[in-house]
Amino acid sequence: MLDFSLTDQQVLMKQAIAEWSKANMPEEKIQEWYRNRGIDQAVAKSWVDAGFGKLGIPEEYGGVACDKVTLCLAIEELCHGGGNIPMAPNALINFDVLEFGNPDQIKDAMEYYYEQGIPKYALAISEPNAGSDNQNMSTTATLGADGKIHINGTKTWVTNAEWSPALIVLAKDEDPARENRKMSMWLVPTDLPGVRIEKLNKIGMQIAPFATVHFDDVVIEPDAALGERGQGFYNLMKNFEFERCVLIAELLGEAQAAMDDAVAWVNERRAFDQGIKSFQLVQEHITEMQIKLTNSRNFLYRTCWKMDNGIPVNNDAAMLKRYAAPALTEVCSEALQLFGGLGFTDQTRVSRLMLDCRGMQIGGGTIEVMVHIAGRGLIKEYAKNGFYY
Ligand SMILES: Cc1cc2nc3c(=O)[nH]c(=O)nc-3n(C[C@H](O)[C@H](O)[C@H](O)COP(=O)(O)OP(=O)(O)OC[C@H]3O[C@@H](n4cnc5c(N)ncnc54)[C@H](O)[C@@H]3O)c2cc1C
Repeated sequence: MLDFSLTDQQVLMKQAIAEWSKANMPEEKIQEWYRNRGIDQAVAKSWVDAGFGKLGIPEEYGGVACDKVTLCLAIEELCHGGGNIPMAPNALINFDVLEFGNPDQIKDAMEYYYEQGIPKYALAISEPNAGSDNQNMSTTATLGADGKIHINGTKTWVTNAEWSPALIVLAKDEDPARENRKMSMWLVPTDLPGVRIEKLNKIGMQIAPFATVHFDDVVIEPDAALGERGQGFYNLMKNFEFERCVLIAELLGEAQAAMDDAVAWVNERRAFDQGIKSFQLVQEHITEMQIKLTNSRNFLYRTCWKMDNGIPVNNDAAMLKRYAAPALTEVCSEALQLFGGLGFTDQTRVSRLMLDCRGMQIGGGTIEVMVHIAGRGLIKEYAKNGFYY
């Protein structure tokens, strides 16, 4: 039997997050955080202290266990507060450590997170010549005669690198050659000699800023490896499926905020001596926007539901991102259109929401690469089973 309703607990959680957002994230504050390249740490900490930031973290590490549907509902509601609020993707970094770390690494990362309200690590995978084509990366981790690991190379577009005390760095084992498929993840403090961070300016999502990070013979201990050596890339890819769900939950919250603003405006604005809500072309925008929101929401929570039930979602997560990232950007763009000239100023938030959503057609795997993943997967599934559900 199909049941699309939320549980009482989920409804209460969403209400509590909406109240928390109202109290902690007024629009003027959010604008200030976008200008200042980061949220107030006290607010991030309050998110953790309120328990929302502990969702999905196992109880043995001080968290609050929950299913993926519930976690994405929380993230959607947080971003519905008005932006690409960094506590949403923070959860993902923690999950990489929780999934692949040893007990000491997990304990250390969680302690830092609970004390500071922000995760200890940012994720450094992409390189100037290796984004979609990760295999082309040339950052290496080599074992020196001193028995230590030496990291050399450059990572870029690393979200939050400028204020994270440490990075999860994906590097090739020993040899930068394209054919070398062995990569490992390393925990690298950003205050080590040889680490140089260069700030980059984003056109959206400035609240979670980018940086390029240079590693010039950065020396770490062999026990700084996160997860199994040589398997770093494959391991990270496993977490990417849920990462795609989380990213779309963020965008869904943001696009819903744009929709809320657009509907309020349409109800208020008059032109040609009548409310603009009476124009069919305005109604068409509202209808198309809601179709995109509803489709994205259904697809997101169905994918989460599959994950919660142990059903593989490699194709679904890729198709979800392929469909919903552009669709939700369009929702914000249509909201901007309905505001007319005002929408093209910074006196409304819809343009900011649109640019935030736009970034996610690239970050975490481009929407073209999603076709590369899902297209091949679907053809295989149909050949094997004759259908895909
Ligand atoms: C908002 C945002 C946040 C990010 N955060 C991080 C982060 O925290 N850490 C990090 O390491 N990186 C991060 N990135 C970088 C991101 O992962 C890369 O930008 C992305 O993987 C694309 O790589 P690229 O920029 O090199 O583009 P390219 O790979 O050079 O792609 C250029 C164009 O070619 C297309 N293309 C490439 N290969 C194919 C193919 N096989 N088939 C069809 N089309 C293809 C792409 O879709 C794109 O349109 C972030 C990027 C953004 C925008």
